[in-house]
Amino acid sequence: MAEFTMELNDEQKEVRDWLHGFAADVIRPAAAEWDEREETPWPVIQEAAKVGIYSLDFYAQQYFDPTGLGIPMTMEELFWGDAGIALSIVGTGLAAVGVLANGTDEQIGTWIPQMYGDQNDVKVAAFCSSEPDAGSDVASMRTRAVYDEAKDEWVINGTKTWATNGGIANVHVVVAVVDPELGSKGHASFIVPPGTPGLSQGQKFKKHGIRASHTAEVVLDDVRVPGSCLLGGKEKLDERLARAREKAKAAGGERVKNAAMATFEASRPAVGAMAVGTARAAYEVALDYARTREQFGRPIIDNQGVAFQLADMRTRIDAARLLVWRASWMAVNGKPFTAAEGSMSKLFASETAKKVTAQAVQILGGNGYTREYPVERMHRDAAIYTIFEGTSEIQRLVIARTLSGMPIR
Ligand SMILES: Cc1cc2nc3c(=O)[nH]c(=O)nc-3n(C[C@H](O)[C@H](O)[C@H](O)COP(=O)(O)OP(=O)(O)OC[C@H]3O[C@@H](n4cnc5c(N)ncnc54)[C@H](O)[C@@H]3O)c2cc1C
Repeated sequence: MAEFTMELNDEQKEVRDWLHGFAADVIRPAAAEWDEREETPWPVIQEAAKVGIYSLDFYAQQYFDPTGLGIPMTMEELFWGDAGIALSIVGTGLAAVGVLANGTDEQIGTWIPQMYGDQNDVKVAAFCSSEPDAGSDVASMRTRAVYDEAKDEWVINGTKTWATNGGIANVHVVVAVVDPELGSKGHASFIVPPGTPGLSQGQKFKKHGIRASHTAEVVLDDVRVPGSCLLGGKEKLDERLARAREKAKAAGGERVKNAAMATFEASRPAVGAMAVGTARAAYEVALDYARTREQFGRPIIDNQGVAFQLADMRTRIDAARLLVWRASWMAVNGKPFTAAEGSMSKLFASETAKKVTAQAVQILGGNGYTREYPVERMHRDAAIYTIFEGTSEIQRLVIARTLSGMPIR
């Protein structure tokens, strides 16, 4: 097990500086344009693919970094550049993790490369779990996958919503109900290969922030996928379902509710790191502005009312990063999250991003309220962090339940 460290090693520092250079030179200058266009920034993704940032190799290297700091460092730097563009770059990785975590070696080898495409023909992937009536309450999911034994195919029907890259992805990873009696324990994940008939994009959402990231509904109408597209395989699924049925029987047949809430514990620090990146970006703009903007014959930072805000902003950002790094190290090294440390890191970092970006707007005064300065966009972008991958309320619920062992509602 790697020791927990608060310092990046030399190799990590080199990667961080390289990522920062890309964020500063390529992502940040393109941010305002793609925010206005509300479209996937394909040329930027292509550029990231050319230099090796948009690739399975790079992502896997960071994902398996034993210090746990590879992914948070990557997220922080890219999201420092711009949240919407960065999500377009890392959204595929979030779908790939679903396959890495649950897929067989063959599935990993077959599908993850198709999620990324290649330098000359980049592709993206989507992870589709949320539904119109199943957001926080994952157990209410309705999308159904039924096994057609004669053909060794799964038939999937339902509507997914809020899918990042939904409909424009080459590969979709879809979570569906295979046993409705088991609540979230009766779910399974499927690969929907490129060009599969029956999968289509529904509404594309016009959003408040992260507008360079494509978010849409995905409609699944009698989508047939081969048996080999069930992540982990049928044997493993049958074993898992049998265990869940035993447990449900022992619990008096009660439907297993909301168990999936805790399953994202290990991926939540990555979202926390995105939030740290956005918060740090806004803080830096505000600090710079406060030093140079003069009112009453002196820089506005000369007022404690402004300087203390900046002190609080930086303190919160550093505290958030520490929580994120701790949880990432725990996740990589298999440490049990006995106090829901993954949720804690996401909760604190996302609330920090919302607060810090609002303070940055305030420090820039009228300029902060315009699109001439980036903090207006950062403030809009930051609002997503307390919503996706589990809202702040759900993080608090997970933390409170973990601490108390009680079914707090
Ligand atoms: C831009 C964007 C991108 C996304 N990308 C993806 C993606 O790629 N794939 C995917 O599957 N999903 C994605 N999501 C979905 C996201 O994870 C959900 O929006 C989120 O889980 C919340 O679900 P909901 O929107 O249905 O809100 P709801 O669950 O309806 O919640 C509404 C409000 O009620 C509160 N609430 C609900 N239950 C409780 C409770 N028990 N106690 C206290 N408060 C509660 C919530 O905290 C929230 O404030 C994305 C969403 C957005 C906006």
